[in-house]
Amino acid sequence: MSTIRILPDRVANQIAAGEVIERPAAVVKELVENSLDAGATRIEVEFRNGGRAYIRVEDNGSGMTRDDALLSLERHATSKIAEAADLDRLATFGFRGEALPSIASVSRFELQTRPASDDAGTEILVNGGKFVHVRDCGRPAGTRLVVAQLFNSVPARRKFLKSDATESAHIIHCVRLYALACPQAAFTLIEDGRVIFRSPECPTTAERVAEIFGRQIAESLLTIEAMEADLRLRGLVGRSGVGRATRHEMITFVNRRPVDSRTLSYALIESYHEAIPKGRYPLAFLFLEIDPAAIDVNVHPAKREVRFRDETRVRAFVIRSVLERLRESAGAAAVGPTLEQPQEGRLGVGAPPDPAAGPTPAESRIAAPFPVYRSPVFANPPQAPAVHLAPTVPSAAAQRQGEGKNPRIGWRYVGLAHGIYALFETEAGLVLLDRRSAHERVWYERLRRQFAAGQVATQRLLLPVPVELDAISTALLLDRLAFLNGHGFEIVEFGRNFFRVEGVPEWMDPADAESFLRDVLGALREGLLAARNLDLARDELARLASVKAVRMPDGTSEAEMDALVSQLFSCQQPLTNPAGRPTCIELSHGELARRFQK
Ligand code: ADP
Ligand code: MG
Repeated sequence: MSTIRILPDRVANQIAAGEVIERPAAVVKELVENSLDAGATRIEVEFRNGGRAYIRVEDNGSGMTRDDALLSLERHATSKIAEAADLDRLATFGFRGEALPSIASVSRFELQTRPASDDAGTEILVNGGKFVHVRDCGRPAGTRLVVAQLFNSVPARRKFLKSDATESAHIIHCVRLYALACPQAAFTLIEDGRVIFRSPECPTTAERVAEIFGRQIAESLLTIEAMEADLRLRGLVGRSGVGRATRHEMITFVNRRPVDSRTLSYALIESYHEAIPKGRYPLAFLFLEIDPAAIDVNVHPAKREVRFRDETRVRAFVIRSVLERLRESAGAAAVGPTLEQPQEGRLGVGAPPDPAAGPTPAESRIAAPFPVYRSPVFANPPQAPAVHLAPTVPSAAAQRQGEGKNPRIGWRYVGLAHGIYALFETEAGLVLLDRRSAHERVWYERLRRQFAAGQVATQRLLLPVPVELDAISTALLLDRLAFLNGHGFEIVEFGRNFFRVEGVPEWMDPADAESFLRDVLGALREGLLAARNLDLARDELARLASVKAVRMPDGTSEAEMDALVSQLFSCQQPLTNPAGRPTCIELSHGELARRFQK
């Protein structure tokens, strides 16, 4: 016989903690948000062992009286909203009154706080949700929270945590996001006794980006500022031609809150459609301000997502503003020599139009309804186009020799369409070959052979390339430095967070040194390349490198195309590029006849 009962608070809190506090970085997020909500202008965050052993967040904000401090640990106790309608005017990060009781239920939780108007401070200790003591304490005005032994009382949760390094990377990323969101507050971040960054109050977001991401990145950005009705966009976006292999540096905020927003990501990727090569991501630190009533922040337990009531309008506004800014900067570049040169030269502005997107420029597609746009990134595994030309193994017949055809597999080159697709006549029908993908495959296998044989020649750079990194990337790079230096690089550390690339593999264009290194770091952050298994790490490096190594020849003669096809079909896996996309598509006679209804 079952009995219905109300869960004791402690259990309810532990359950809520499961949703809100999924990892140490979530504790940091909640505490930093509280500090900012309390008007702090100085916030110090310290943690140890990826946050599982110890997290301290200390601020100079409003502090709490003893009564308020006790109340703050009750479920649904919040000073920030009084009724549901307040959500439409929300100006604070917090509003649910869940964080403190949840955290206190799964850790050893020590709160010290004092409002400037009181003489004595209050200290409260709670252990695994059990109240231990409350007493007076001396402390400066503001609040200090120490969360120790996180999840000790919830072994199931503890099991899900990743390595200290991973948890620590999440914490660092989180503090950086809030430091970006609030440049007017000073931030200090300390890991295991080491200062990761210390950023004073900054007059602008640009200054803050330079402080915590490095001056080099800051210099590759353009400031942006646009307004339209209740929408306002500001921040920094990458110059034309500056792209990244991962989306880690596409950082978006809505009303100061760091969020993952598909709408904003789509809009950004779309805006850079012609400014950076396909498959790469723009750099952006973008702040959207919008009437709080026009968004819903209450859709995700950790408030990491927002929903726009009018997605299409927001998306169109962002695309328009970013495109405008890129065009403006391109115009400035035309007037005189500036830094606006595309930094990924060969593939930059002159990249061939993306056939999948049709011939219309990004701009004219703004009006298209949201679902029409199929981003290369969000669309799951590359879909065959509507005609369903599934990639097939060129049939045995196609591989037989034919006169005047490629002696190797019997294809006769007809011509190149859009500078992208080589068309071949084969015995079995027609083959369309994606020239870039084919070259990538050839390079990938070539580099893998070189890596395995340990024969990667290095070219010394006449002018070493300085690279400034942030703390996370520095740690990752140091960890993999010997590996990279064993594969054609010569990278040396010179000073905190500074490196110098003195040599690059022979196949690399020296102008790509920095951007390739950043791609490698992006892969490292995603856990790729980090494999202790050397073969796997080498494969990953070859995969990244193959994209950079390809130099699309201008020539499109029959001899060149034949050579490419021969090289491709000497590969172990000629039918896909290293990213798994098809290199060629065959249209058989049968398929052609069917489609022409013959
Ligand atoms: P919420 O932020 O959703 O209101 P929390 O559980 O995070 O809920 O915090 C509960 C309340 O405790 C807050 O509404 C606020 O009044 C108070 N509080 C929490 N942290 C601080 C702080 N660092 N300084 C001042 N007051 C705080
Ligand atoms: Mg809060």
